[in-house]
Amino acid sequence: MPKINNLHDVYVEQLKDLYSAEAQLIKALPKMAKAATSMELAHGFEEHLKQTKGHAGRLEEIFKGLHEKPTGRTCKAMKGLIEEGAEAIEENAAPAAKDILLIAAAQRVEHYEIAGYGTVKAFANLLGEDEASRLLEQTLQEEVETDEKLTEIAEAINVEANELDEAPVSHRR
Ligand code: FE
Ligand code: FE
Repeated sequence: MPKINNLHDVYVEQLKDLYSAEAQLIKALPKMAKAATSMELAHGFEEHLKQTKGHAGRLEEIFKGLHEKPTGRTCKAMKGLIEEGAEAIEENAAPAAKDILLIAAAQRVEHYEIAGYGTVKAFANLLGEDEASRLLEQTLQEEVETDEKLTEIAEAINVEANELDEAPVSHRR
């Protein structure tokens, strides 16, 4: 691994970490969409998959400007978060419960990305990388919006999951 001498080097390494995170998500999100039972949630994951491909594209653009390659780092945190998502996918759960498990995993992912993009955007600003800062802000906004949308979807499904046990006895399996 290259020696990290200054803020610029930290910036590049952190961008590589994010690129790895986005690439892992591009593989994971279709599985999350398939596992979702709510149409709205499945659609939300599919929409965010499109955005996520755009996030990877923006990072590639930034790397082009830096004359660097985005590869060479594995984001271990995202690996773990996706493993938790895979656990949610495999869980034997009632439909509403399954969906809130998926949302719980997905919101952890969004918060992780929000933290990561906030950090690199601050570096870009300090380094005078204005175009990169603009691109990073766009992605950051999409992560925030996705998180908010997941909260919205969760609010309805949480109520549904809470009522799973409250069905009349005759309706219970
Ligand atoms: Fe992203
Ligand atoms: Fe995201």
